[in-house]
Amino acid sequence: TVRRLRPHATTIFSEVSQLATRFDAINLGQGFPDTDGPESMIEAATRAMREGHNQYPPGTGTPELRRAAADHETAHTGLVHDPDTEVLVTVGATEAIAAAMVGLVEYDDEVVVIEPYYDSYAATVAMAGATRRAARMVRSGGELRLDVDSLRDAFSPRTRAVLVNSPHNPTGAVLPREDLEQIAALCHEFDAIAISDEVYAHLTYDGVEHVSIATLPGMAERTLRISSAGKLLNCTGWKIGWLTGPADLVAGARTARQYMSFTVASPLQLGVAHALRHEQRWIATLRQDMQVRRDQLMDTLSGVGFDLVVAQGTYFLTADPRPLGVTDAAAWCLELPERIGVAAVPFAPFTDVFSDDWSHLVRFAFCKRPEVLDEAGRRLRALQ
Ligand code: PMP
Ligand code: GLN
Repeated sequence: TVRRLRPHATTIFSEVSQLATRFDAINLGQGFPDTDGPESMIEAATRAMREGHNQYPPGTGTPELRRAAADHETAHTGLVHDPDTEVLVTVGATEAIAAAMVGLVEYDDEVVVIEPYYDSYAATVAMAGATRRAARMVRSGGELRLDVDSLRDAFSPRTRAVLVNSPHNPTGAVLPREDLEQIAALCHEFDAIAISDEVYAHLTYDGVEHVSIATLPGMAERTLRISSAGKLLNCTGWKIGWLTGPADLVAGARTARQYMSFTVASPLQLGVAHALRHEQRWIATLRQDMQVRRDQLMDTLSGVGFDLVVAQGTYFLTADPRPLGVTDAAAWCLELPERIGVAAVPFAPFTDVFSDDWSHLVRFAFCKRPEVLDEAGRRLRALQ
């Protein structure tokens, strides 16, 4: 392995999921739902396979999905994209992030990341050979906000991009418009682009609304917005995502991804296109279901004695296990599957410069059936 990737050797998600399988634990670590997406989506993909959509589709994605994704975004954000030049279908949001980084960032550029961050951000900045500069979130009252001073310190004339993620993994925070405006102001001041990971855009709770940074004044021209069908439609194993933005930025990502995967499974793209056209109601209901599950897991975890941050979005709850006597959250997470048959993910891999602020925390996913969360609750009570 090259030196710059050695710190990223095995993702925490693989590590924890392997432990969960080995000890037959309920996996509240890696974030994936345990029920399928809409039936009509699965039928459309199956039909596409039977009808002969089994060879390479166009490298940018099937026209049906590019058009459906553009229309979906217009309906939800008001942003209008040309499906031919401003939409790129990718192998999940993961490839979209990597392609944006490799295709748009030079070796001597800097990329601002906000800690804690989804782990692929640091790894893809390293793949691009660029330098990572860290800002941080802070707890303010019961809320998580951007620490604007740290953000300003992280920007410099060498900043090419900032990675923005709201709703935010791992904390479940939804950045308010004022925080996004601060990021946007710095992008303008330093002529940087925003790579905006919005895979949980449709999963916000308690009436909190997601704002896309691409909708702020002057930002549509300098933002790549990243989406994941896996999160939108409960099909994380299909690995379909897309990015949208101005043609010049999409072209950078497209150039890189031509040599990563070239394209994405054709029948699955057609299934997702069908769902974006016909299953908007299903997508709206998912948010309500997830809010109920969040509440269920919050009740369980607070009953067991964890301190919690209320998740305003995503699949994830941030829990502080120190009231249970835990002193090393990372080690504790790796023992948990064997000890009580539940898996969770530590925050440590999501931080670097500001790890002192975060590494005592753990993340639990609540995107599971109520009966599974019930059983997880029974097992977690063994910690009391
Ligand atoms: N970004 C964030 C914030 C995520 O949580 C995930 C994982 N679900 C991804 C990107 C990757 O998404 P995908 O599974 O579509 O590659
Ligand atoms: N995005 C999911 C999570 O945060 C899964 C990530 C992965 O497996 N790479 O848990």
